[in-house]
Amino acid sequence: MPNNGALPGAAESYWMSSTDSTRFAPLTADVTVDVAVVGGGIAGLSAAWEAAESGRSVAVVEADRIAAGVSGYTTAKLTAQHGLIYERLLRTRGPQGARTNAARSALGGRVTRTTISAAQRLLARHSPTGA
Ligand SMILES: Cc1cc2nc3c(=O)[nH]c(=O)nc-3n(C[C@H](O)[C@H](O)[C@H](O)COP(=O)(O)OP(=O)(O)OC[C@H]3O[C@@H](n4cnc5c(N)ncnc54)[C@H](O)[C@@H]3O)c2cc1C
Repeated sequence: MPNNGALPGAAESYWMSSTDSTRFAPLTADVTVDVAVVGGGIAGLSAAWEAAESGRSVAVVEADRIAAGVSGYTTAKLTAQHGLIYERLLRTRGPQGARTNAARSALGGRVTRTTISAAQRLLARHSPTGA
C-alpha cells in the first residue's frame, strides 16, 4: 500500500497525548517560599525537586501548563554522547572543553535517573493500588 514515504501513525508527542493536562488555579495572593522556580519544564521541575528534597519550601511558577513547553515534545533520551556537539566543542573549546561537557552530561544523566527513580517511588506510595 503506497504511503508516499510517510511514517505510519499520528505525528504527535507521546508525552502530550498519553497524559492528562495539568490545571492549577492562578496565583491570587503573594506566597513566601525559600525557592521560586520560574518555568515548569524538565529544568524547572528538576530544580524544584532538588530544592524540595533538601528541605526547602518551593513554588513553581508556570505561565502556561506544566511540562507542555519543549519538554512535552522531547524524545527524552539520556545520553552524554551528542556527536554533533562534540564535533563543535572540539573545534571551539579543544579536547578539555569536550571532556568537561562529557563529564557534566554524564553527571546530569545520573542525577536525572536518580530523580526519576525517586519520583516513581513517590508515585507508587501515593497510587491507590500501590502500583
Ligand atoms: C523534538 C525534540 C527532541 C528532543 N530530544 C531530546 C532528547 O532526547 N534528550 C535530551 O536531553 N533533550 C532533548 N531535547 C531537548 C530537551 O527537550 C529540552 O532541552 C528541554 O525539554 C528543555 O527543558 P526546559 O525546562 O528548559 O524548557 P521547557 O520545557 O520549554 O520549559 C520552560 C517552561 O517555562 C515556562 N515559562 C517561560 N517563560 C516563563 C515566564 N516568564 N514565567 C513563567 N513560566 C515561563 C514555559 O511556559 C515552559 O513551560 C529535545 C527537544 C525537542 C524539541
